[in-house]
Amino acid sequence: MEKGLYIGGEWRPAEGGRTFAVTNPADGSVVGHAADGGAADAQAAVDAAAAAFPAWSDLTGRERGAYLTKVWNLMKAKRDDLARIMSLEMGKPFGEAKGEIAYAMEFVAWYAEEAKRVYGETIPGTFANQRVLVLKRPVGVVAAITPWNFPCAMVTRKVAPALAAGCTVVLKPAEQTPLTAAALFEIFHEAGIPAGVVNLVTTSNPVAVGDVFMQDRRVRKVGFTGSTEVGKLLARASAAQLKRISLELGGHAPFIIFPDADIAKAAKDAALAKFQNGGQACVCVNRIYVHESVAEEFTAAFVARVQKLKVGPGLAEGTMVGPLVEQAALEKVEAHVADAVAQGAAVLCGGRRLEEGELGQGFFYAPTVLGGVTPAMRIHQEETFGPVAPILTFTSEDEVLARANDTHYGLAAYLYTRDVGRIFRLSEKLEYGLIGVNEPFPGVAQAPFGGMKESGMGREGGHYGMDEFLEIKTVALQI
Ligand code: ADP
Repeated sequence: MEKGLYIGGEWRPAEGGRTFAVTNPADGSVVGHAADGGAADAQAAVDAAAAAFPAWSDLTGRERGAYLTKVWNLMKAKRDDLARIMSLEMGKPFGEAKGEIAYAMEFVAWYAEEAKRVYGETIPGTFANQRVLVLKRPVGVVAAITPWNFPCAMVTRKVAPALAAGCTVVLKPAEQTPLTAAALFEIFHEAGIPAGVVNLVTTSNPVAVGDVFMQDRRVRKVGFTGSTEVGKLLARASAAQLKRISLELGGHAPFIIFPDADIAKAAKDAALAKFQNGGQACVCVNRIYVHESVAEEFTAAFVARVQKLKVGPGLAEGTMVGPLVEQAALEKVEAHVADAVAQGAAVLCGGRRLEEGELGQGFFYAPTVLGGVTPAMRIHQEETFGPVAPILTFTSEDEVLARANDTHYGLAAYLYTRDVGRIFRLSEKLEYGLIGVNEPFPGVAQAPFGGMKESGMGREGGHYGMDEFLEIKTVALQI
């Protein structure tokens, strides 16, 4: 598989013909090559996006929405192909990869409709002959930078609302997953999206491309999903031109189980929310707090579920947990478990790298449950981003609330209880942007998704996600 850059409606090689290899984390094999774009390519992509902006922003929302509907139909037809490429380049189990394509399509469908609903406002004037209008206009050229863990959905979650709003886009996907992005751009091309409206710059050098985005004044908005560390770098860089920026960063999600919860469902859902994508999602559970009176029951049910998770290559039959994305990710998981064990944590299942047979070629780690975790352990403070679930116990609502909020992160939190008063109290007081109440997957396309504190700023999804790509203008007039 060889993929180029997509700039101004055409596929082309990177300057100098440079390419980079994409490898399968399940066995180290080379899956394909992507064009290795540099600063000159990024500049050409911004030029193309800027040139396409006037005509694209002049279309009606209805017309722009119609292009997105074509994209949706093509994604539906090519869902298996997209999922297969994703499985190969980042290890996601095939069924889960198909689920991600469906989720990615949700954003396309939702914003295809929402393109027609960029409503303004009229506000009564101060004087009898004064009228005041509020208009919304697209911000301009958008640069989108996306991560490897959701190589398709993180792209559509940015590109669909940007296009619906009337913006043009340059995308820089993660270096681990350029091929899924390229396959999606083939769909954009087939859907007939006009030249320059969407542009793709794959690269092994994100700094060179990111610098062009930050320095070119025509780029008015940067949408980023990735690590808190890089998000802060981009936030600092955006200050020079006061570019608009939205950041979806890391998380450290608590999963809280009260004694009145359905414990069997809590165990099932905790496994779903923890081990989705092998624990490599910013909304994955990082700390399980279970009330001491139900700790034994919950832990037994949870460990039984985790032990049944089948680990393997993404495309192998029945795989539920794939490999970690790369060596460094595996080493971080190993370091977190070693640190916890050294400080007295108990390994209730897993706790080791899997190297048997075909697994020996990849970055596989056994789904792991740790008991007796304490706040001093690294796993309690840092995002592990792997298949390890730490269990802690608590005694009161106030205590668990304080402990759950005691982190710099604030993306997702999960709450298992059937007490309505408690649901409201904690939903209001948990310092998280996304709260799942008896719900392991709270992120839906029609609702805002985003973090508090150092988990980010801005929201993606729903009409809030559209606002990120719109400027608000006031027009006052005398009649
Ligand atoms: P992760 O740790 O999950 O790989 P990163 O924040 O490193 O997260 O990567 C997320 C995205 O940010 C990727 O597309 C990556 O290429 C990009 N990226 C990394 N460093 C920079 C940078 N300095 N400037 C712009 N983009 C960057």
